[in-house]
Order: sequence, then C-alpha cells, then structure tokens
Amino acid sequence: MKDKPRVAVFSFTSCEGCQLQIVNMEDELLEVADAIELVSFREAMDPTGRDYDIAFVEGAITRESEVPVLKEIRRKADTVVAMGACASTAGVNAMKNRFTPEENLREVYGDAAEYYDTSEARPLDEVIDVDYYIRSCPMDRSEFVQVVTSLLLGRKPYDPNYAVCVECRMKENECVYDLDTNEICLGPVTRAGCGALCPDFGSACIGCRGLIDQANIESMMDVMGKHGLDDEEAERRLRMFNSRKRVK
Ligand code: SF4
Ligand code: SF4
Ligand code: SF4
Repeated sequence: MKDKPRVAVFSFTSCEGCQLQIVNMEDELLEVADAIELVSFREAMDPTGRDYDIAFVEGAITRESEVPVLKEIRRKADTVVAMGACASTAGVNAMKNRFTPEENLREVYGDAAEYYDTSEARPLDEVIDVDYYIRSCPMDRSEFVQVVTSLLLGRKPYDPNYAVCVECRMKENECVYDLDTNEICLGPVTRAGCGALCPDFGSACIGCRGLIDQANIESMMDVMGKHGLDDEEAERRLRMFNSRKRVK
C-alpha cells in the first residue's frame, strides 16, 4: 500500500446515513482527509480515480444486479470494510425477507412492479469476503476514525465480540431489568463497541450492532416473555436488525 492509501466509499441499499456520518465529521474530517487519498465518494465529491486500496461499503445487497458490482469492488480493493448495520448484517433491510421478492415488489410498486427487480436482502459477507466491520445504525463517526487510524498503522481495528451489557455495567448504569421496568433491552445478546450508548441515555438497546457469536437467544426470549412479550412480539424485536444473521 502507498504512503497515503487510496480510499473509496461505496453504497448499496441503504438510507445513506452512514456516509452522512463521514460528511458530518466536523472535527476530524480535515485530518482524515489529509491522511488518505480519497478517490471516490459519491455523496461528497466527483471521483478522482478508479483504483483504490481500501473500500468502505455501506448498504445491504438486495438486487442481483448489485452482486457483480460488489464483487468488482472486492477484486480491486486490498481491504473491504462493511460500514454500518445494513452492510454488516443486512440490518433493517432484511425484515423484507419474511416475504417473497414478488410480494415485496407488488406491495411497494403496485402495477409498476414488473419494471423493478429485488431479491432477498443480504449482508456483504454473504457475497464477498469482508475484512473489517464498523457496526451500528448509523455507524459512529469515532469508530470510523478508529478504523481508519488502525488501517493506517497496519493494526487490526478493534471489534469486540462481547455483549453491550459489559460496557453498560462498566459505566455503572442501572439496568432496565434491575429497575423492573417493562422496557426490553437487547444488550445481553448484542455486540458491544458503542459504549452502551442507548442505555447510557436511559433507552433500551434495540440490537443495531448485531448479535454476539453464540448469543443465547433462548434465554433472551425467556426474559422478554417474563416482561410480558408474547413469542411473536419478542421475535419481532429480535428481528429488527438481526433477521438475516439469525437464519444462518
Ligand atoms: S446502517 Fe442505518 S444509517 Fe447506515 S445506511 Fe443502514 S439504515 Fe442508514
Ligand atoms: S440496561 Fe440493557 S445493556 Fe445495560 S445491563 Fe441492562 S440489559 Fe444490559
Ligand atoms: S446500545 Fe444497542 S441499539 Fe444502542 S447503539 Fe449500542 S448496539 Fe445500537
């Protein structure tokens, strides 16, 4: 890799909110821009080159026509980073996988359905090898900076595989379950790394960073049942960000 790595940012099916996080990096943007050579970033600039070393990719794959485009990005980049929940787990896009592609097209486009194509929503790593992940919906700007810095230093970016509860307890937050509220918090099965952001502000975790490996879903379902959710509603909460990863 050259002294200044060439970086490109790409987007597939998403709300583009993670790209916006980069554009909104008021404090760090100039420093980051100085340390890399940004060659392509549709939301912010005209492209200055076709070759790149690092590709940050936002969004899920939800159309077959996106597959060759993503594979070409993988072919050209030394390093591919999945950026945000959509890219990492298919995120909210995967809720549509409960229905057939035809049902989804009819529901959204009605009589014009035949002009569009759609397929199951998939995270990037079901189509290509992904090197690193920046999770959350939207991704956190400081995590983006941490990943860029790690790559510049030749280090592996930090990506914890323990539960949000660990960070929450380290911050000495009062747990919604200790408080015996009827709030449902997915912290016990959700990957840490956000600093227990939502519980820190008094809200329950809704699982946007995806599941930890070996998440104990059965116990999580029991806890939700004890707090008054029937199985269907409990499943619905778990599915919001994790329906694709759960079926694997
Ligand atoms: S992860 Fe969230 S903020 Fe980022 S693109 Fe997907 S829906 Fe938008
Ligand atoms: S509030 Fe949520 S994240 Fe925090 S300890 Fe309780 S269950 Fe875990
Ligand atoms: S606490 Fe949960 S929902 Fe909130 S940012 Fe962290 S992982 Fe996402």
